[in-house]
Amino acid sequence: MCGIVGYVGYRDCSDVLVSALTKLEYRGYDSAGIAVFENDKIAVAKSKGKLQDLKDKMEIEGKLQGFAGIGHTRWATHGEPSDINSHPHSGKRVTLVHNGIIENYTELKDFLISKKREFLSDTDTEVVAHLLDYYYNKVQDPITAIIDTMQELKGSFALGIVFADYPNVVYAVRRESPLIVGIGKDENFIASDVPAIIKYTKDYYLLEHDEIAVLSKNGVEVFDIHNQPVQKELKTADWDVDAVGKCGYPHYMIKEINEQPNAIKNTVSPRIKDGLPCLEECNITTDSLKDIKQIYVVACGSAMHAGVVGQYVIEELARTPVTVDIASEFKYRNPLVGEGDLVIIISQSGETADSLAALRLAKNRGAKTLAIVNAMGSTIAREADMLIYTHAGPEISVASTKAYMVQLSVMYLFAFELALAKGRIDEEKCRYYTAKLLETSDMVKNVIDASTEISQKISSKLITADSLLYIGRGLDYALSMEGSLKLKEISYIHSESYAAGELKHGTISLITKDMPVIAVATQSDLYEKTVSNIKEVKARGAKVIMICQEGNDVPKDIANYVLQVPKFEELLLPMLVCVPLQLIAYYTAVQRGNDVDQPRNLAKSVTVE
Ligand code: GLU
Repeated sequence: MCGIVGYVGYRDCSDVLVSALTKLEYRGYDSAGIAVFENDKIAVAKSKGKLQDLKDKMEIEGKLQGFAGIGHTRWATHGEPSDINSHPHSGKRVTLVHNGIIENYTELKDFLISKKREFLSDTDTEVVAHLLDYYYNKVQDPITAIIDTMQELKGSFALGIVFADYPNVVYAVRRESPLIVGIGKDENFIASDVPAIIKYTKDYYLLEHDEIAVLSKNGVEVFDIHNQPVQKELKTADWDVDAVGKCGYPHYMIKEINEQPNAIKNTVSPRIKDGLPCLEECNITTDSLKDIKQIYVVACGSAMHAGVVGQYVIEELARTPVTVDIASEFKYRNPLVGEGDLVIIISQSGETADSLAALRLAKNRGAKTLAIVNAMGSTIAREADMLIYTHAGPEISVASTKAYMVQLSVMYLFAFELALAKGRIDEEKCRYYTAKLLETSDMVKNVIDASTEISQKISSKLITADSLLYIGRGLDYALSMEGSLKLKEISYIHSESYAAGELKHGTISLITKDMPVIAVATQSDLYEKTVSNIKEVKARGAKVIMICQEGNDVPKDIANYVLQVPKFEELLLPMLVCVPLQLIAYYTAVQRGNDVDQPRNLAKSVTVE
């Protein structure tokens, strides 16, 4: 969840480490630290809080001076966020940073205590540092000691390691948690993700599970768990530095909202041939789709909400049953998934631990798997049978916007192709939908422009609310879920989404004049019914914000604010309607003075179960 970086080269190491960690801040963290070789001795600086706190500390205590080292932003899993629990952790001659969780750390700690090892922190990480030092004492060779340690560890880890006996060499290893090795000229890097190093180099290796990298100024060697050298394929990031900067926007979130039109274009256009969806490069063909009996969409958070939109669309067009599952529940409810089923896993990072576990379970049960993933080369992307990359570019803000948007676009594309493969729609209809999907790119741009001002105004009315309801029916309900999540995660105002027709079975008792209700009513066939539900809450004093289509005849006095989106193919309206929902959440958080891009307690890439 946190960030790991490492550097060996000719630049000021502290500066490189802190600057690289800044680019990983989006992942969420509660403390930070670095270790640098100062005159061949390892020096450590660490602090609870933000990177600025670490910088302030170094300002007072002295900046670490050197040309090689490791750095870390921590998202605490074992032990509270504190200076002591911050990484790096040391076990005599070994100092390391760790991302992940060591599941068997209690047994290992007991063993090490029996060997007279003393622990300063509550972390599982310090156990790894001591265990590695214990083996290093025995074998006197870093790689063999790392391999011996890896054999003992259960759980997930990416580690950046330095040995006091090997100045200016950085070791790295991973299992489950992501890690890349950046390749420069006379300098090399490790990082949890590409944005950390893109300022210095675009070339990198993807470290596979249980591979060990050894970095010096002049080169990088990679070994497998049997200590055999591995030939790595050099990858080149296709983003430019701007993609990871704010480019004049006050927050990444609003920058990313504005990047949505392009993200849609980049994701959809390359998958269209002769006006029809073409997913062959993703290993998806008409033949492979024809016989799918049932689909499970498994994901977390916003990605799961994109799955709910997908469920409506697939069932509507392809008439194939779809179940949407929360990934963390899927694995533990012994699902009836098996041969003939398709399991679609949606994940921005491609490293979401719960989604990865679901993918592996589905494969074990004989189901076909399709990953919809944004991060190239991520674990979920590599393990699924079929793969559709969403080309959103790097999403830095913790609250997902453009990644959610392109997940929607891919769900549509897939639904069209499936419906065609199953003979549920003809080519003409499929062409029509595909063309409309392409049009959403420009439409989204218009909606951003047209709804910014009114969203700001609506937000100003929400900032004092304690609690909110989002209601809708059908596709509008699926959007309500996402709108509500977006608002609560960054504004910290409690909010729930409810199927509009379900309110009167209990929840309507919550309605008072202090409870704003955001009602989404864009689907013509459900419009009258939703309007009735809006009247029910209005009659009980609620302030209503209604989102509907232009031209809708909104009855007088049912809404305090009406926000209209352009008339469009209704099946695709979620792509437009999610924009004002994102903007309302964004401006509410801004007006409440919150840390929009890094909301409290949250991490961008959730690599623990
Ligand atoms: N489990 C470790 C800790 O609690 C690492 C957490 C992380 O990935 O940041 O310190």
